[in-house]
Amino acid sequence: MDLKDLDVLAKAKCMECKRVDSVEVNAANWLDYINNNVLVQKMWPDLGTWDREVIIGCRTGFYQCALCSSLLESQAEEA
Ligand SMILES: [Zn+2]
Repeated sequence: MDLKDLDVLAKAKCMECKRVDSVEVNAANWLDYINNNVLVQKMWPDLGTWDREVIIGCRTGFYQCALCSSLLESQAEEA
């Protein structure tokens, strides 16, 4: 089996609301990303910002979903 034919699901859990987001990525790309410290934007240039955040969150364990992130931002503006 070729890893290039396999997709894996990268999941990240939001630190605030505990919701889990996921992105499907190619397994070969994922291993390359993990093992060779390739930048997310270089590995998946076509993915949207939040899909990339999920991938980073899956790797680092730190993730904040788009909703919580925008909520916190608006709170910061009010303060
Ligand atoms: Zn959240």
